[in-house]
Amino acid sequence: MPRRLLMATALALLAGCLPPAARSAEAPHKAVFILLDGIPADVIEQVPTPAMDAIAASGGYARAHVGGELGGPTETPTISAPGYMSLLTSTWADKHHVRGNSNQSPNYTYWNLFRIVETIDSSRVTALFSTWLDNRTVLIGVGRPGAGDFRLDHAADGFELDTVAFPHDRASRYIKAIDERVTSEAASYIAERGPDLTWVYLQHTDDMGHAHGDSAPFHEAVREADARVGRIWAAVQRRQALGEDWMVVVTTDHGRDARTGMGHGGSSPRERTTWIVTNRAELTPRFTSGQATIVDIAPSILHHLRIAAPPAVAREMEGVSFLRGP
Ligand SMILES: [Zn+2]
Repeated sequence: MPRRLLMATALALLAGCLPPAARSAEAPHKAVFILLDGIPADVIEQVPTPAMDAIAASGGYARAHVGGELGGPTETPTISAPGYMSLLTSTWADKHHVRGNSNQSPNYTYWNLFRIVETIDSSRVTALFSTWLDNRTVLIGVGRPGAGDFRLDHAADGFELDTVAFPHDRASRYIKAIDERVTSEAASYIAERGPDLTWVYLQHTDDMGHAHGDSAPFHEAVREADARVGRIWAAVQRRQALGEDWMVVVTTDHGRDARTGMGHGGSSPRERTTWIVTNRAELTPRFTSGQATIVDIAPSILHHLRIAAPPAVAREMEGVSFLRGP
């Protein structure tokens, strides 16, 4: 047995021997959230997803919502980038100002999760693995004036600009290939480095939804996305065996229209109804009763990481943690 493996085994055994109290007091708290694009709740409940079932087995699965208050000032289009920005900042579009996927002018007044973590404790390791470059350069706003002077420790993205390695095709096979690449990068990095905060964004499901609507090809894409989640979950489990305390969140940014499943962006129940899977067991009734929203995810992750946002930032957050306890 190679020495490194022996060391890992010894650490795993040690972690297993510690009493629970000692473990929770000393275990580093880490979080990864995975966003699978455009999967309605009824679809995730219908298609076999063994990897997400395994994550939920120790925690929970529940329906959730996007889109803000229907008919109210916070109502937010059920479109991808507005959804990501709501997740990242725990605010709706009336504050973050992202209402579409292009020509965004984000309002960086409302700090995103990465800015909060890097500002409060720059020693924490942050990482992004994304099939869409704008998540880093526009929404998170790394390096942008007014978006905060912070950096991510690691990013793997921008593959869609590499048309040699990933030649674009109408069937969106290149996006599937990029999702695979992004997943491989994320799984390796998590297994080797155990970053403190990680976002994995995978796009292919939404492309198949737009192209085929509610159909076998769309459901197949959901099964493939679940398998990618399984690879990241396996990496997290390797870190947990070393004594780290992980929170995993898997979610989506919007549902799809009820008629064909090809579109989204409106305010129908199926477009506004989403879902959240987590490995955490200490869930509030708000989560288990299906009342959680996408803006609750950032406060929950900060809760798990034991990081308090600056009061002026926390005050503007629209969500609350769905975790119980300290
Ligand atoms: Zn989307």
